[in-house]
Amino acid sequence: SILSDQIAAGEVIERPASVVKELIENSIDAGSTEIDIDIKDAGLQYIKVVDNGSGIESNDVKLAFKRHATSKIHDRKDLFKISSLGFRGEALPSIASISNIKLKTSTGSDGTEIDIKGGRVLNCIPAESRKGTTVEVSDLFFNTPARLKYMKSPATELSKITDVVNQISLGHSDISFSLRHNNRELVRTSGRSNLQQVIGGIYGINTVKKMIKFSMNDDDFKISGYTSLPEMTRASRKYISIIMNGRYVKNNNIAKSVLEGYRSKLMIGRYPMTVIKIDLDPFLLDVNVHPTKQTVRISKEEQLCSLISDTIFKTLEPKNL
Ligand code: ADP
Ligand code: MG
Repeated sequence: SILSDQIAAGEVIERPASVVKELIENSIDAGSTEIDIDIKDAGLQYIKVVDNGSGIESNDVKLAFKRHATSKIHDRKDLFKISSLGFRGEALPSIASISNIKLKTSTGSDGTEIDIKGGRVLNCIPAESRKGTTVEVSDLFFNTPARLKYMKSPATELSKITDVVNQISLGHSDISFSLRHNNRELVRTSGRSNLQQVIGGIYGINTVKKMIKFSMNDDDFKISGYTSLPEMTRASRKYISIIMNGRYVKNNNIAKSVLEGYRSKLMIGRYPMTVIKIDLDPFLLDVNVHPTKQTVRISKEEQLCSLISDTIFKTLEPKNL
């Protein structure tokens, strides 16, 4: 129902950046190699995401807006080995319940356009377009004025959107992303770059030059990434980025294990800049913890954390610098 979708939206869609995140994740799950995001007024007025992925078959378009309708997992067993970014079937119905949404999609053989406002389908018709999906969201939170009131300044909302695009791009250097705000380009990745180049695009070439590469694996985990030289630190923990099986996640214990790797090398209150990619059997990773899917639980977490701190420690040994 529209009501339960709005309740779900309360958790999944906190702000414009959440819409951007969910739509990009859908585009990635659809196998896109090019994802272009266009926003106006920090996303509160307008968000458009264009992809060149698989598209949605005509028969499934309305279904995609039904709560818990996901094409990505089929039974309970799948929940324990999630390899897609989405699996809850909540994003589209949630967004549709609190905005004006237009989705245009084509599988290459058939195409559809659907318009939904506040959860009510206004229009659903066959439409021609190139293969892929375009989603336009306008008037976000038009029917939830209290939520609207909690928005921060446009500059803050915009920086949260930029963060989301940057964070996702770190896990997908093979996808070309672009982000434009009021027609000004804020992010562009080539889709043919490596992790180092993506990091350079986000933090600047001079910063990435002061970061060292590491990689290591044991029987369960494969870790790799870049960490800054001890002289190159930041005042915020925000510069420790963790990507697990392609998903940007937050995990305090992993962040701590990065710090642990630095042992005595850091000044109090300073944090290394680090991007760490961790690949593991999805069976060891539980992403079904929170609707935004950013919190994860890891079995063998202690083993992973010591692997990380040992690897960072060794990377920083004088002979490696
Ligand atoms: P979830 O991603 O958890 O499955 P969503 O509500 O985000 O749930 O999306 C519902 C369904 O709509 C997806 O399972 C997928 O089948 C389809 N879908 C959404 N966005 C796209 C897209 N950009 N390209 C292809 N299919 C899409
Ligand atoms: Mg999704």
